[in-house]
Amino acid sequence: MKIIVCIKQVPDTTDIKWTENNTIQREGVESIINPYDVYAIEEALKLKQNLENVEITVLTMGPKQAESILRQAIALGCDKGVLISDKKFAGADTYATGKTIASAIKSKLQDYDLIICGQFAIDGDTAQTGPSIANQLGIPQITFVKELKQCDSSSICAVRQIEEGFETLKVEFPALVCVLKGIEETTRPLINGFIKAKNACITTYSMDDIGLTPEDTGIKGSPTYVSKAFRPVHNREKCEICENCIALAEKIKEFGGLNIE
Ligand code: FAD
Repeated sequence: MKIIVCIKQVPDTTDIKWTENNTIQREGVESIINPYDVYAIEEALKLKQNLENVEITVLTMGPKQAESILRQAIALGCDKGVLISDKKFAGADTYATGKTIASAIKSKLQDYDLIICGQFAIDGDTAQTGPSIANQLGIPQITFVKELKQCDSSSICAVRQIEEGFETLKVEFPALVCVLKGIEETTRPLINGFIKAKNACITTYSMDDIGLTPEDTGIKGSPTYVSKAFRPVHNREKCEICENCIALAEKIKEFGGLNIE
């Protein structure tokens, strides 16, 4: 089975700062693997432990320094690292990011069975990238996955969190899943993992390599425009406690929020 795990480098801070273009300030901030992507790696490693002939490729789209998270993933037990990197990708929104990753998979990694993404990235937090990749590849997707189980050689069973509890879905390969925090503890790298990671060759693809033009990606290929980004101010003095739900509904009505009878 060939698995691709999509991982994103995110700032290791909750004190997010913005650039003048309303994008996240990443320079000078320590970076880590997006925590949900660590669970994605964990699910892939579990399949590798339990089955024969599983190969895991970790993939990230980002600047040159994002190579470090690919090496960390290799230290954890993944087999190969792919970096999609080009200055022309700068300013990509989730649509352009999904398109760029999907184009890299289509052109360079087409022999895959399963793509595993995190459900959210802790910085952008849209949860759109995984579904966008699946959509652009034309493959089925399952989101909010808690656990993966192999069904047979051509499909996977995903335990999915829903409002009422859990449901299990079976999907034929090729497919994409987005995972939540798993049930088990995450793996720690062993010393030979660090050695393998240090010596690993990371394959890098540029915009030309994956057959895109500047109009397809980066700021030009991004339909989203961020007009303003701000931290909401909490004014606790203006807090009002409603005694019951009728009083709460009245209050919402007063602010024009709901049409309640
Ligand atoms: P989510 O959709 O919440 O992530 C879900 C999962 O998708 C992750 O867990 C991971 O598995 C996968 N994933 C997400 N991103 C990647 C990735 N890069 N590589 C591999 N897997 C991934 N960001 C910048 O860094 N630089 C910019 O210049 C920039 N400009 C932007 C301009 C605009 C107009 C907008 C709207 C956004 C911009 N962003 C930029 C943010 C960037 O679009 C998002 O960070 C990116 O698309 C991922 O979205 P997200 O963070 O919401 O991830």
